[in-house]
Amino acid sequence: MATDDKKTAASADSFDVIVIGGGPAGYPAAIRAAQNKLSVACIDEWKNKDGAAAFGGTCLNAGCIPSKALLESTELYHRAQAEFATHGIRIAGATMDVAQMQKRKSGIVRTMTQGILALFKGAGVTGLQGHGKLLAPGKVEFTAHDGTRRTLSARQVVLASGSAPIELRSAPFQSPQIVDSWGALDFEAVPQRLGVIGAGVIGLELGSVWRRLGAEVVVLEALPEFLAIADQQLAKEALRAFKKQGLDVRLGAKVTGATVKGDAVEVRYTDGKGEQQLTVDRLVVAVGRRPYTKDLLAEGTGVKLDERGFIVVDEHCRTGIEGVWAIGDCVRGPMLAHKGKEEGVMVADLIAGRYGETNYKVIPSVIYTAPEIAWVGLTEEQAKASGRAYKVGVFPFLASGRARAMEQAGGFAKVVAAQDNDEILGVHIVGPLAGELIAEAVLAMEYSASSEDLQRTIHAHPTLSEAVHEAALNADKRSIDNINR
Ligand code: FAD
Ligand code: NAD
Repeated sequence: MATDDKKTAASADSFDVIVIGGGPAGYPAAIRAAQNKLSVACIDEWKNKDGAAAFGGTCLNAGCIPSKALLESTELYHRAQAEFATHGIRIAGATMDVAQMQKRKSGIVRTMTQGILALFKGAGVTGLQGHGKLLAPGKVEFTAHDGTRRTLSARQVVLASGSAPIELRSAPFQSPQIVDSWGALDFEAVPQRLGVIGAGVIGLELGSVWRRLGAEVVVLEALPEFLAIADQQLAKEALRAFKKQGLDVRLGAKVTGATVKGDAVEVRYTDGKGEQQLTVDRLVVAVGRRPYTKDLLAEGTGVKLDERGFIVVDEHCRTGIEGVWAIGDCVRGPMLAHKGKEEGVMVADLIAGRYGETNYKVIPSVIYTAPEIAWVGLTEEQAKASGRAYKVGVFPFLASGRARAMEQAGGFAKVVAAQDNDEILGVHIVGPLAGELIAEAVLAMEYSASSEDLQRTIHAHPTLSEAVHEAALNADKRSIDNINR
């Protein structure tokens, strides 16, 4: 399809591209397809708890954005209490107005989700609010929220239906006592005792939010190691910091049951010491998410799901059925907004006959706790397992003037590079603004940079980014601002 053609005129029911799902995978796909001069409709069925329909999916309505709003508010509150006096700032009796905190969060969500409508208008995307179902390649049934039904046609259909929280048979959701992450984002008061099942990204972020406001937080993790997916030097440093903050993380804890008793929950689990019991006021179940494809596919479309329910795709998000693509959380790969966005853009460009690629080897992960945790590429454990000789450079924020000035000198930056050609294999950061710092490493790896490339790149002084620079230098034992080990 030529991209310099004039945009194909869409009839009310016929489009070049229909995207089902308007989350961070689907809405960028729709916008890029429209930028490629294709006529596009994006169908989304999301409704918020007040009944209002909103584009943006999990990320904007009940995930990335509201969680970051609460993390910011509670971190400021925590620092006002625990840190301001060190700077000489005396503020007696700071309190947290939870209703105001939640109001601010909802305001941000509203602005961001309405922003998508403005983006659609600007790009010429037709936004349709309601349910979409692939009837056959090229045919989509759209059921509006008022129940009216139409069959739409499109040359290309992109499935971006996202994911939903996994429910545990041993601890089924029973709001308001046993909730998923959306419930935990919306608590109207600070629970005195909060249980969290799962020490993953959600457990740590939302556990931190409510801990900072005074909740006693116990996190039950089934695996014996903490943050098994992360570099273990990073994970150990983070765990030490979380324990110091009072997050009670119990590893090797397998939940066997949870019973609501009045307004409390009795949780039963087993660990190395045998059967245990815990009573909490609220229990958050955050044990991962599963692909969501309910009523998405009519019989006989030919689109395949794997044994875990993910839509089967190749590396370019083709389903194998001509004109049907799938992107984001409903397909393999990490469940991250930026991964979905990149796939959406790739597919929209491929549909338009342009170049499109997603570099799955260089997808950053960020956990927005304090300290922040971020990484890209191989962990040291993965580098070791690969059999390729590697070297490691570490730089602690303790030796960073900027981190000390910020009163945030915990953690470190770590570079893992190949011994043979010096290629950067992975970068791991635990410390202040790690999620921002990792972008440099992502760019470096995208361009197959060596640790010497980072070493020879001038970093402004005094900045946190110098920690990445010095970690790269330390990989060759040439660190200037730290003792080389
Ligand atoms: P979704 O965002 O789930 O969007 C799918 C959309 O499709 C939804 O609106 C859904 O209603 C709609 N839909 C589904 N089926 C149909 C249908 N048949 N018809 C019409 N519409 C349909 N990721 C990050 O990268 N950074 C973060 O900081 C981060 N924080 C998170 C915090 C929390 C608490 C949670 C739960 C998740 C977080 N994530 C984060 C993960 C991120 O939200 C997901 O990876 C991302 O939303 C996936 O995007 P998606 O477009 O594939 O799916
Ligand atoms: P997760 O996969 O990050 O963590 C789930 C944790 O629960 C794991 O540590 C797992 O071992 C543990 N677990 C599983 N079953 C258990 C059980 N029965 N008992 C005790 N522990 C158990 O999943 P999540 O935290 O629910 O997050 C879901 C998805 O959302 C993730 O894929 C994540 O990438 C995404 N997300 C990303 C961000 C971010 O990028 N900052 C934030 C939140 C969520």
